Amino acid sequence: MLGWDQETYMPREAAELRGNQLAMISGLHHRRQAATEFRDLIGAADDENADAAPDSVVAANLREARRDYELATKVPAALVEEKARTTTLARRAWAEGREANDFARFCPWFEKIIDIARRMADALGYDEHPYDALLDKYEQGATTAQLQQLFAPLRDAHVDLVARIQDSGRPVDASCLRGAFPADQQDAFAREVTKAIGFDYDRGRLDTTVHPFCMGVGPTDVRLTTRYDPSFFGDGLFSALHEAGHGMYEQGVRRDDFGLPSGQSCSLGIHESQSRLWENLVGRSRGFWTHFYGTAQKRFASLSGVSLDDFLRAINEVRPSFIRVDADEVTYNLHVFLRFELELALISGDLAVADLPDAWNEKFEQSFRLRPPNDAKGCLQDIHWSAGLFGYFPTYTLGNVYAAQIYNKARAELGDLEAAFARGEFTPLRSWLNREIHERGRQYLPHRLVEKVTGAVPQPQPLIDQLESKYGAVYGL
Ligand code: ZN
Repeated sequence: MLGWDQETYMPREAAELRGNQLAMISGLHHRRQAATEFRDLIGAADDENADAAPDSVVAANLREARRDYELATKVPAALVEEKARTTTLARRAWAEGREANDFARFCPWFEKIIDIARRMADALGYDEHPYDALLDKYEQGATTAQLQQLFAPLRDAHVDLVARIQDSGRPVDASCLRGAFPADQQDAFAREVTKAIGFDYDRGRLDTTVHPFCMGVGPTDVRLTTRYDPSFFGDGLFSALHEAGHGMYEQGVRRDDFGLPSGQSCSLGIHESQSRLWENLVGRSRGFWTHFYGTAQKRFASLSGVSLDDFLRAINEVRPSFIRVDADEVTYNLHVFLRFELELALISGDLAVADLPDAWNEKFEQSFRLRPPNDAKGCLQDIHWSAGLFGYFPTYTLGNVYAAQIYNKARAELGDLEAAFARGEFTPLRSWLNREIHERGRQYLPHRLVEKVTGAVPQPQPLIDQLESKYGAVYGL
């Protein structure tokens, strides 16, 4: 709640006070999580449930509680503090470096952060690659080798698809998304749409912020945020849909299991699969807009002369650009592959921090046929590295991979989903996701959950097929 308020309504001058409050709460939380008393209780519960089936909810809760305890205790307190101190200062150096377009300001801090990340990996432990330890924190069970195997064919397919789109000679005219789109109308429309797909406003809220996010306080209190640009339609609604996808996951966990691993979301990748599914697979589909476009046209005079076909093309434009957070559905993954490769090279020591800008620009050009004009539009654009977050970026694309597979399965079981969307029926899909994904909490590791739901471990082809089919139609490939 303190974190949510910080990003929404907190007075500007309260930043330092809030920092102290948050530090105290997280200190209390960490002490409980890492207490020997907690370890002993898990041990006692293990003994009492020694004959629980390995796949049972009880066994999963014990397994995950032990993992949480180990994550909280494996890294020495001194290293945790060093990281907190260093990243606080590094964040400032990064912001200044980005502002001034000067990587040299951030470089010495980034070297320290890489060194800390390596020591973190050693403390957490790994079998093959230090990156495995960092990745496992966000996507339990995923390894570097698995991701390389999954991402290599995906990267080739994306580069090829983007090249064919650029060479298609059929550029999309997205100018209809620019014009007068009053913020209050966008807000009313976003509420109407997110409510219709199943976000429960008696157990949640929608507010505005600079960087949209979703925060689940508990299944009966889920906070979404978005932002509205009164001269652009593309961002506010799709951010709201994205966050509502996260929010319906948070609202969909088992209420009776709140506080237990079985009442928590599975992983970052699985979480992202839910947001991407609603944002892209549902929210950019013809069926969805067959239902909502009339209402949108009534609310926004700018759309009155725009046909549904032209609107659909506009919201599905593919345009390579420098900034990840502004990227479309296809080029987004290229941004992630780039960061994944560079993180691996930095952590393993194959790439010196000082050489990062050149390596970034080189690789960027290979994927995007564009060269960043400066480091602010290149390796300094994201906050993640200044915060010491390594292994986080891949979960964005894992979300897309999982979403494609999960959506295919939903369609196989529920029939023509787009025809249902066109009739305004979203409950069958949401209930199916509740049952298959949300209510399972952390019972299975993420890759196992995907296999359980879809019958196959995570793989590249469903996402490739889906993008080929959709963008083949948009660009006449
Ligand atoms: Zn997300």
